[in-house]
Amino acid sequence: MGPPAQERARDSLGSLVLQLHTLGGVASRAELTERLGCGRSAMGYLLGELRSRGLVSIDPAGGRTSSADGGRPSHSVLVADDAPTVVAAQLGVDSVTVARVGLGGKVHARVERSLRTRDTTDALDTLSELITELTAPKVLGVGLAVPSPVRRTDGYAAAALHLGWRGVPLRELLLERLPLPLALGNDANLAAMAEYRHGAGKGATQLLYLMTGHVGLGGAVVSEGRLFLGARGYAMEPGHLTVDPAGAPCPCGSTGCLEVEADHRGLLRAAGRTDHALHDVPEAVEEVFKEAVAGDPRCGAALDQAARHLGNGLASLINLADADRIVLGGTLGRLYSLRSRLVDERVTGRSFLNDGGEIPVLPGALPDSVLLGAAELALQPLLDDPKRVLDGLAR
Ligand SMILES: [Zn+2]
Repeated sequence: MGPPAQERARDSLGSLVLQLHTLGGVASRAELTERLGCGRSAMGYLLGELRSRGLVSIDPAGGRTSSADGGRPSHSVLVADDAPTVVAAQLGVDSVTVARVGLGGKVHARVERSLRTRDTTDALDTLSELITELTAPKVLGVGLAVPSPVRRTDGYAAAALHLGWRGVPLRELLLERLPLPLALGNDANLAAMAEYRHGAGKGATQLLYLMTGHVGLGGAVVSEGRLFLGARGYAMEPGHLTVDPAGAPCPCGSTGCLEVEADHRGLLRAAGRTDHALHDVPEAVEEVFKEAVAGDPRCGAALDQAARHLGNGLASLINLADADRIVLGGTLGRLYSLRSRLVDERVTGRSFLNDGGEIPVLPGALPDSVLLGAAELALQPLLDDPKRVLDGLAR
């Protein structure tokens, strides 16, 4: 059996930028040489290309000693202080968050604003305003994460159910306001990509990712470093897997979807606490967790029920995806840390592809995974073809 199939860049320069990026923006020259599997002189050439375009700087004294370099101290390669950055934006159900992010996932600046209404124009005006505020010289483009399936060809948001938006040509509307390259993606898909490159999904060949946000439950598969997007870009929507046909109605039109049974509202409903405004939902869920840990039986039972539904949903998804790692983001990770036995019983008992329980289940490692994922989307052209992007910026 060969090594696990992983993300590959188009050429050596792209590979070098990708490695430096996933190593957090700083690495020893020896480690990069090792990872690229190239010779010392080839590495010298590649670093020269990136340095002359202002992407990296070299610290002769900063690297570790490496056996690959004959025991000599290795130079340290860093993303340059004034290297290009991107603007990452997250459209939430009652807020927008925007950050300027550099290679290595470094967040340079971050702003957040509440949305007063669910009006599309109001949300897009707020988004454009914050994006403009954070745009600086050498910004390559904007990545936007939205709580909706997104069509890959044109950034059409098919169903932002929790915003009450059905079918919005989001990219087109934003481009009327913003004169910058703009890419859109589904929030859970992008969070999965961030966990794959920087967090708990690192090194997985087939990563199955599920997360809960403010409300709702999303997910994705990252297969050999690429998101599984489906024919139009709408895959995956594991939140709408039926786990209880007799369950609660879901905004998608079905009943008993994993999303309504195991997201924040599912937890609150099971705990008998349904009278919360949308804005207060995360805080109310926090109370349910605290009281469950303190021994409250109804809150404890609510966690049990959500964990069973999560386990049943995961078992079906494992059989579909043949994952070698499962990462649970947001509250799902916390639910798993408190109720792993209930989840594990189902992901082994109901999934014959995991009957030995060998597939690791981990909580997400990144608190800002959606926003970092939006940055990944905007950085992708640089990772695909650094020379073209950097030379284009210089013109
Ligand atoms: Zn549904």
